[in-house]
Amino acid sequence: MTTPSLLILPGDGIGPEVMIEVRKIIDWFGAKRDLHFDVAEALVGGAAYDKHGTPLHDDTMARAQEVDAVLLGAVGGPKYDALDFSVKPERGLLRLRKEMDLFSNLRPAQCFDALADFSSLKKDVVAGLDIMIVRELTSGVYFGEPRGIFEEGNERVGINTQRYTESEIARVAKSAFELAMKRGKKLCSMEKANVMESGILWREVVTEVGRDYPEVELSHMYADAGAMQLTRWPKQFDVIVTDNLFGDLLSDLAAMLTGSLGMLPSASLGAPMANGRPKALYEPVHGSAPDIAGQGKANPIACILSFAMALRYSFDQGTEATRLEAAVERVLAEGLRTADLMGPEGGQPVSTSGMGDAIVAALDASI
Ligand code: NAD
Repeated sequence: MTTPSLLILPGDGIGPEVMIEVRKIIDWFGAKRDLHFDVAEALVGGAAYDKHGTPLHDDTMARAQEVDAVLLGAVGGPKYDALDFSVKPERGLLRLRKEMDLFSNLRPAQCFDALADFSSLKKDVVAGLDIMIVRELTSGVYFGEPRGIFEEGNERVGINTQRYTESEIARVAKSAFELAMKRGKKLCSMEKANVMESGILWREVVTEVGRDYPEVELSHMYADAGAMQLTRWPKQFDVIVTDNLFGDLLSDLAAMLTGSLGMLPSASLGAPMANGRPKALYEPVHGSAPDIAGQGKANPIACILSFAMALRYSFDQGTEATRLEAAVERVLAEGLRTADLMGPEGGQPVSTSGMGDAIVAALDASI
């Protein structure tokens, strides 16, 4: 079997700092679990602009298309704020998402028991929470035509168009059903079929795709009711699939159920490649955090959990992904806290590298 390939793009700000900790984890899996990766590293965002005058070099783009998975840190920072829009660091990330055609965005909302007090909701509502939101990422109202601000009579009118083709709905639905099969076999689809034709089509197509997954319990909910249910009793959900706009809102809402930005991983998946693996980009939800960059304060867990998602969804290593997540859980339960996780109850303060080392030690203890 060929060694699976991984392209690491640390990016800017705290990106490179948290990625150093992920490299420790990758090395651990090679040394202790005989799980090896062919790892290459390249520049993205401001770092790529500084060297190449572009936020993503063509060679890096080509490499990203070939590898089994891409793992990205974060891009951006005040140094690049005045750059022309076409070369801003974020354009590097957007180009990756667009050219890899990553239509399925996976955002887990998982609440580690040790951090349940961090949520703005009551502890019993969030403790043990483990849900996944699948957001359609490449179509819908953010891309539909016509769009723009036009003159109409004696005033301006702003127009955006919600547009979905059957195939766009079907492919993200399929990806959500596949995911539900690997999890609790429950899928809730959210749209606004009561007021939007695109929502009616969404519901019909998701139902059709569901016929291929009789084991998955499919339900439908209007997205506004879904937002209420997510805050009322989020544990009723397993996997949620929704469109680009509703997914943008609902995944942020669900993410905040669990507390800190430094804890949130994500995956963006595309169509299967020749080897059957989906095109995939894994990245923490947070940005480059310029306010704490270079100070050893960044929480590396979001990036480490993004690698755990890569183990599960790109490399079929679900057991090892669970091992890594359990190691994170153990370290948190022992009271280790980077600055962002330091609540009123205190804890043992650790630096970025201290947290990475503790997770490696917890992995050691797991075998
Ligand atoms: P941010 O996520 O970088 O930071 C928001 C706040 O959360 C900051 O106070 C930061 O210190 C804190 N924070 C974020 N990640 C943390 C971590 N791992 N550990 C501890 N604390 C953490 O968002 P922002 O400040 O709005 O944006 C900063 C830069 O990042 C901007 O240039 C923005 O464009 C870029 N950005 C990039 C991405 C990405 O690469 N995907 C996403 C969002 C923002």
